[in-house]
Amino acid sequence: MLHRPLRLRLDRAALVANWRWLADLSGTACGAAVKADGYGLGAREVTMALHAAGCRDFFVSTWDEALRLGSIPESASLSVLHGVGADDVSAALASTARPVLNSAAQVARWKEAAPGWPCDVMIDTGMNRLGVRPEDIAVLDGLVIDTLMSHLACADEDHPLNAAQLERFRVVAAEVPAKRTSLANSAGVLLGRDFAFDLVRPGLALYGGIPRSEAKGHIRQVAHPEAQVVQRRTAHAGESVGYGATFIAERDTELAILNIGYADGYFRSFTGHGGAAFDGKSLPLAGRVSMDLVAIDCSETPEVGEGDWIELLFDLPTAAAGTGMSQYELLTGLADRFERRWV
Ligand SMILES: *Cc1c(COP(=O)(O)O)cnc(C)c1O
Repeated sequence: MLHRPLRLRLDRAALVANWRWLADLSGTACGAAVKADGYGLGAREVTMALHAAGCRDFFVSTWDEALRLGSIPESASLSVLHGVGADDVSAALASTARPVLNSAAQVARWKEAAPGWPCDVMIDTGMNRLGVRPEDIAVLDGLVIDTLMSHLACADEDHPLNAAQLERFRVVAAEVPAKRTSLANSAGVLLGRDFAFDLVRPGLALYGGIPRSEAKGHIRQVAHPEAQVVQRRTAHAGESVGYGATFIAERDTELAILNIGYADGYFRSFTGHGGAAFDGKSLPLAGRVSMDLVAIDCSETPEVGEGDWIELLFDLPTAAAGTGMSQYELLTGLADRFERRWV
């Protein structure tokens, strides 16, 4: 592989520690959502690291993602959240993954294509996104259901829908025979053990996201973007920096130009908030984020020069507050140009 001037340092120990913390807190089996290529970090590496730590249940969105994950250990179970559409039947039959059936049409399709094969089922308890409605559960008769699940719409808030969804799910779970039941995503785990059932399905918090304040101080950052300095230069007092000339140097300002930009998922909304750290000193952004470059003020760090690696600040809750983007968007936006380096 050619040298890449930007890399994502990925902290395996932090990923595993986050999973362990969520597993202990839930008091039940803890799986992992690895859709969207493990929220941008790399689904295969995440899956193998968490499997080694004891995680057994993994979730992707599509059959293409299931295939790209490659072969996983026999002791691991993989579920495909979008279920089985008309174009997915042959992929589903060729795969060891289970579909999460989401509608009466998908249920009928699975009964016909794979009678007696295990599946998972999503019940819609109030999100109106995917899932069989509670009044329609008669269509599930005859399925061999491994995991019966539902998904919380507002678990990251204190919202009355949380208790309502919990109650609706309990009613359905008492009526529909299944090997296991599952309701909670990351934020749902933080709502308490009432929400845990037999299996929890965190995604975001595994990767360093903090969906609710209860996780503060427990969940560690996993993804650390680092970019190389292309050049160091001086903007003289009164000169501007970058597109739109939005940054004017008040005094002679030393800049490091870094090999990262919005095409890498370091979005323009970091402008005015983002920055870097070097040797404990903070290096704020100067001017707008470009497609492939940013400028940081390195006046305080004379030792920074061409070729040095600089870590951008990417603490997810802080970055989300500054940019107005969600922690999910920030993670999944991290683009292919990074060399992903697990340490
Ligand atoms: C993405 C997803 C999860 C994980 O959600 P997080 O909020 O990232 O923890 C769990 N269950 C389902 C059905 C999902 O789609």
